[in-house]
Amino acid sequence: MSNFAGKNVLVIGGSRGIGAAIVSRLSADGAKVAFTYAGSREAALDLAASTGSEAIRSDAANRQELIDTVRGRGSLDVLVINAGTLVLGDALELDADAIDHMIDVNVRAPYHAAVEAARQMPEGGRIIVIGSTNADRIPFAGGAAYALTKSAVQGMVRGLARDFGPRGITVNAVQPGPVDTDMNPADGPMADTMHSFLAIKRHGRPDEVAGLVAYLAGPEAGFITGSFHTIDGGFAA
Ligand code: NDP
Repeated sequence: MSNFAGKNVLVIGGSRGIGAAIVSRLSADGAKVAFTYAGSREAALDLAASTGSEAIRSDAANRQELIDTVRGRGSLDVLVINAGTLVLGDALELDADAIDHMIDVNVRAPYHAAVEAARQMPEGGRIIVIGSTNADRIPFAGGAAYALTKSAVQGMVRGLARDFGPRGITVNAVQPGPVDTDMNPADGPMADTMHSFLAIKRHGRPDEVAGLVAYLAGPEAGFITGSFHTIDGGFAA
């Protein structure tokens, strides 16, 4: 339980879903955790109170706000970039501004947050981005733009692993499949379609993803970098 005692952790997008599970897990493991949120103030304050973490309102789509927030946390041992949005639908009909906003949150924010964190990160630092199994497989129509954002994360992870590896900093992606959150509820309209692609025919749980993040953030994972860690019930198998 003390794997992360004294470690300074920032989770970008931690108020709900997978991010909240990561905040809970790393707080329980002894880390000093801060997390950002954009819209869910009440959920964020509740989570902060129940875990002893710190909630910071900071919009990941606002580049300067994001950079200032990361810089303000000082020397981070672990940065987890979880914030994401999902825009699905007919590519010919989707709103272009909504697509660009998704690219801002899912692609631009991880890049700028990771680079800013690395400026002050000590040897042994960990940067973990929550990507998606949809970076590798998108077996239904309507997901091109979302898949684009998660495939972009892969290129970033490969490249930044090379940039920061000489300093002992690892950079990895965790790629979930369907996980039961507000974004993708286990009882939602897409659930049966999702399960048809799975070897394990259920949604994953946020705490299962948080467990993988904790492993990658921990002391045993120092030789793992530049790679994608799929936790998807066999979605991409
Ligand atoms: P949710 O929609 O349940 O939660 C999203 C979280 O991200 C919230 O805490 C939200 O905070 C935060 N967030 C969103 N936009 C911003 C922003 N502009 N600035 C700061 N925080 C923001 O999503 P999930 O928990 O399901 O997803 C988390 C990550 O996992 C995403 O990157 C997603 O793409 C990925 N993923 C999810 C899968 C799933 O099936 N659930 C599958 C594969 C990948 P707030 O509400 O305060 O704005």
